[in-house]
Amino acid sequence: MSSHTKTVTSCPVCKKTLIWSTENPYRPFCSERCKAIDLGNWANEDYRIPVEEPNELKDTPYDDE
Ligand SMILES: [Zn+2]
Repeated sequence: MSSHTKTVTSCPVCKKTLIWSTENPYRPFCSERCKAIDLGNWANEDYRIPVEEPNELKDTPYDDE
């Protein structure tokens, strides 16, 4: 007797699989970051959201790109 069905979808930005939930304020995106990217905020200005991925945790003291 299981009526608790989870709907799985994928983030349109990063294609990451995620569980569709009405409690997810960023849906259909996986995160605030992807939502910002899709909305164009990412490219418009230097809009930075803290990245939670370990392999992107490069916090260099030099701001030289
Ligand atoms: Zn995403």
